[in-house]
Amino acid sequence: MKILKKTKPRIFKVGFDNKISVKDFGKIYLKNHEQITFMDDNHEYDFGKKDWGYYSTPSINGRLKNNQFQVYLVKNIHGKIYLMTVKKSKIKNFENYCSTDHQKILFRLDNFKNEYEIIDALKNFIKKDIFCKKFSCLKNNQYLIDFYLYNKPPKGEPDYKFKRYKRKVVKCQNCGHFFGIHNLINIKNFYKTSYSSISHGKNVYKKFEKINNLKSNSDNYQRVERFVDFFHKQKNKKLSLLDIGSGICVFLSKLKSKTNWSLTGVEPNIEMANFGKIQLNLNIHHGNFNKNIFKRKKFDIITLNKVAEHIKNPKVFLNLVRRKLTKNGYIYIEVPDGYTASNQANGKSREEFMVDHFHIFSLNSFYNLLNTCGFQIQKIDKIVEKSGKYTLFAFCKKI
Ligand SMILES: [Zn+2]
Repeated sequence: MKILKKTKPRIFKVGFDNKISVKDFGKIYLKNHEQITFMDDNHEYDFGKKDWGYYSTPSINGRLKNNQFQVYLVKNIHGKIYLMTVKKSKIKNFENYCSTDHQKILFRLDNFKNEYEIIDALKNFIKKDIFCKKFSCLKNNQYLIDFYLYNKPPKGEPDYKFKRYKRKVVKCQNCGHFFGIHNLINIKNFYKTSYSSISHGKNVYKKFEKINNLKSNSDNYQRVERFVDFFHKQKNKKLSLLDIGSGICVFLSKLKSKTNWSLTGVEPNIEMANFGKIQLNLNIHHGNFNKNIFKRKKFDIITLNKVAEHIKNPKVFLNLVRRKLTKNGYIYIEVPDGYTASNQANGKSREEFMVDHFHIFSLNSFYNLLNTCGFQIQKIDKIVEKSGKYTLFAFCKKI
């Protein structure tokens, strides 16, 4: 055995948000049939070298188990799978680690007498996950629980003058997705009429100015920074971009000043669409995004800023978005982060759970939706926006 110890460890950052510092102290070279033992209190963990490779663990259902360890298969947000050995007394720490680092515990491996029991358990595991993978948790209601019940609008929700206000938010305990359940909103008309003036205030121009005056303190400023940073190599190329639900066009007007792209917006509200067209001289199409729009035209990038949560079936919607993309086209998508919002003391009355959101996501369900609609995730993250909103965003490539 040979040890190369670094006098000064190499320090590097790992984890979902690069907040964990790892110190690398060097290298150990083992010859065949040599082994080393890692020690922590009285727990030991052997690591042996053979002429074919490594014994990376002692027996999972024998020595490790007797040594008070449990073994788990864990998957990170990019689909990479890891084997983790966990002290029985530290399971809570392990669960916290997986939660903050957005790793999903797939499967416990040490609790089986033989391989047949593992195979049976895996089959059940697949059955449990299959609906969430397809973003169809509502079809399999055994994991659904009532999470929030509302008999009146929560504080801060705009007054849409609904008669008999009654709604609930249910949660899928398997993937962490939240569904807004009610019949209060007729989507076809809601965004065309009452929504914009009630939710955004009557004067579109004033609203636009107000957001612009916030400068770097606006969600849109941060969004454009994030966006231009991701596409910095394509900034001067001739790309076409479609912004679905372009609203008062703060995003598009900022992008116009930073890129050479051909920009288009689609917006169901006539006042907002006209404002973008006339006041800002942008190419805005008035109407709902549907399969008949833009005929055969396809776009290199489609952006969906806080749109998918307003749609009853985001799977159908994203499949349509995908069809409007060029080969290797990209989407940028933002949705509300239900996991973080629901962990706040005032979760129930937070903006993320308001009546116009039919879907409030977990990283897991966001990942499942994008994947099942044929997108490869290039970058995914959770953020706290300047306005205080908890948001998940992703840049994805069409596959
Ligand atoms: Zn689910």
